Amino acid sequence: MVDWFTETLHPHFRQQLSIDRLLYDSRTTHQRIQVFENGTFGRVMTLDGVVQVTENDNFIYHEMMSHVPILAHGAAREVLIVGGGDGGMAREVLKHRNVRRVTMVEIDAGVVEFCKEYLPGISAGAFDDPRLELVIADGAAFVAETERRFDVVIVDSTDPIGPGEVLFTDTFYGRAKRCLNPGGIIVTQNGVPFLQGDELTNTMRAFKALFADWTCYMATIPTYAGGPMAFGWGTDGDARAVDMATLRQRFEDAGIKTDYYTPEVHAGAFALPGYITRLLP
Ligand code: SAM
Repeated sequence: MVDWFTETLHPHFRQQLSIDRLLYDSRTTHQRIQVFENGTFGRVMTLDGVVQVTENDNFIYHEMMSHVPILAHGAAREVLIVGGGDGGMAREVLKHRNVRRVTMVEIDAGVVEFCKEYLPGISAGAFDDPRLELVIADGAAFVAETERRFDVVIVDSTDPIGPGEVLFTDTFYGRAKRCLNPGGIIVTQNGVPFLQGDELTNTMRAFKALFADWTCYMATIPTYAGGPMAFGWGTDGDARAVDMATLRQRFEDAGIKTDYYTPEVHAGAFALPGYITRLLP
C-alpha cells in the first residue's frame, strides 16, 4: 500500500507524490516540515504541505534564481538571500568566486538544521563556506534594519502563506530596494502564474512603482506544478540589457557547471507569452 503526499496549495488543483519512505514529519516553531523519499524526485521536503525542494529538480530553480541576476550584474560582491533554508540557493551563489559575502536571512533555524541532516546534497557544503553568513531572522525585519548594501537580493521564500506572507508586501519590497547598491538587482520567487496570477500581478505592481526596469522571467520546475514559474526582476540599472557575447564571456569566466542555466536560456527566459504579459500592470 503506497502512501501519497497531496499538495493542497491551490483551490481546484492538487498534485500527489508517492511517499516511498517517510523520513521526518514534525513541526518547528514556524512550520510543519515533512521529508520523504520519492522514486522520481529523490528526497522531497515540504513546509506546511507545500513542496519546497526536491533532490532531483531543484537545480532548475536554484540555477535560474542565482546565475541570472549575478551574471547579468557582472560584478556582484555582496548577495542577500532571504529564505533559502535548504541551502540550495547559497550553493549556487557561492559558485561565483567573485562573490565576497552571502548573507542568508532565514526565519526558521529548524529548516536549516533539518536540511543539513536529511538533505545534505541540496546545500552541498554551502553552510561551511566562510563567505556565508547565516542570520536567523524574519527577512522583512532584516531589510528594515540592516545597514548593509547588496548587489543582488534573492527572495527564496515560501509562498505568501504563514511566515512567507510578509515577503510579498509593498513594504518589504520598498525596504529591500533600500538595501540595494547602485545597479543592484532583486529577484523573487513569484509562483506559477497559471495558478497564482494575482501573486505575480501584485509583485509587478510594486516593482513598477519602485524600479526603472521591472519584469519577470520564467522557468519550469516539475514539482512547482501548474506550468512555468515566474521570477520577479527589479533594478534601476541596465543589467537586463547585457549582450549575449558579454553574458557568454562572464559565464565562461565563472567556470560554473550547470544543468539548466546557459546564457541563451537566460536571455530566452525573459521572453514572455501573452498570458503572462497580460498579468503585468
Ligand atoms: N524553493 C522554494 C519555493 O519556491 O517555494 C522555497 C524554498 S526555501 C525552503 C523557503 C524558505 O523561506 C523556508 O526555509 C522558510 O522558512 C523561509 N521563510 C519563510 N518566510 C520567511 C521570512 N519571513 N523571513 C525569512 N525566511 C522566511
